[in-house]
Amino acid sequence: MKKNPHKLGLGTLVTQFSEKDNPHQAHVAPIYQTSTFTFPDVQTGADIFAGKNDGFSYTRADNPNARQLARKLAALEGYDILKANPDVEVDDLVKGRIFASGMAAISTALMARLEAGSTIITQKMLYGNAYNFMKKVAPFYGINVVWVDGSDITQWQSAFEQNPETVVAYFETPANPNMEIVDIAKVSALAHENNAWTIIDNTFATPYCQRPLSLGADIVVHSTTKYLGGHGTIIGGAVISRHPEFFNPLKDRFFTAAKVFGGSPSPFDAWLTNMGLKTFELRMQRHVENAAIVAEWLEEHPKISKVYYPGLENSPNYQIAQKQMFNGFGGMLSFELKSGFDAGVTLMESLQLITLAVSLGNVDSLIQHPASMTHAAMSPEDRLEFGITDSLIRFSVGIENIEDVIADFDQALSQI
Ligand code: PLP
Repeated sequence: MKKNPHKLGLGTLVTQFSEKDNPHQAHVAPIYQTSTFTFPDVQTGADIFAGKNDGFSYTRADNPNARQLARKLAALEGYDILKANPDVEVDDLVKGRIFASGMAAISTALMARLEAGSTIITQKMLYGNAYNFMKKVAPFYGINVVWVDGSDITQWQSAFEQNPETVVAYFETPANPNMEIVDIAKVSALAHENNAWTIIDNTFATPYCQRPLSLGADIVVHSTTKYLGGHGTIIGGAVISRHPEFFNPLKDRFFTAAKVFGGSPSPFDAWLTNMGLKTFELRMQRHVENAAIVAEWLEEHPKISKVYYPGLENSPNYQIAQKQMFNGFGGMLSFELKSGFDAGVTLMESLQLITLAVSLGNVDSLIQHPASMTHAAMSPEDRLEFGITDSLIRFSVGIENIEDVIADFDQALSQI
């Protein structure tokens, strides 16, 4: 397999790239279910520990299953960068590291960039535990957090003007749970004018619909628990960057932070994620197609007051979404019912096919109530200010036959 897979389609990349990187030519990569690795001699071991030799020492530091998955995810997120540099090897262009959860990935990447006294600008609409990091962890380490409305570029501008010492701009787009869209290219340009980096959570869009690194982002983070794993069998995360030196233990403190915080994945989880990833393109095609149909159907329904989906032409962020997303607008949407929270409870409890559960990006459709579930840790005041009403319902559209999903919504809505 060529080292730079720029000529491969995404479907080929996810099934083939880095698959044969094993010494016994196993067709499916073996699971390296081992805590530690042996050294042929002391010098080799010492060189690995010193970062002069990239062999394996201990699974918390790195493991072949994690590395294989990291290379594949880096090639996916860096796909356009590989295309623009066909003669350069993947590892010299984009790199990644896998974590035991999306939150381990996010917090490690952030803690590797931030220090006491530094400033981070972030959007208000964030996944509940990313919000918790900004609100309940960062301030206790002397980190200054500046909040903006993510879709309002003038707020980013004035936040950077007032805080020129900012080191990181952090956001999600589409954001969890109301699908707010942030202009990746514009915020990245603003960050770079200030020598700051952008860290973007691309969990909702996935590299099938959006590649922030191509638009100027410095780091992409993922909850691989979601679309990348795809089947609801693992909790995992990833950090991917177009600055390979970020991963070099001799040049950056990220690797040390990863080892110290210790959020490394089990080899089996990395292996399972890679198994799920093999059908990524196929799954995403169906997720995106189904989500567009459900969004339009819900928008027309007389009992629904509002649908949040960036692909709807009357969505406030449609223009920016169209500019930076492709292949569709992802598989997530949220909505509000005209008759409010109680009606929402009736709806969620009347569904027979669609499952009431948090998480998202699974092959099967999942529905949940952000105010009492994923975003319950937010104060009610913040929830209200950030636009997460009690009647907001989040829906992760699966890859089922869409007529079955619609029929389930139809019967559940008729109960209200
Ligand atoms: N980012 C987003 C957008 C999420 O929705 C989630 C979890 O729901 C996370 C990050 C955290 O990922 P994990 O649950 O794998 O730690």
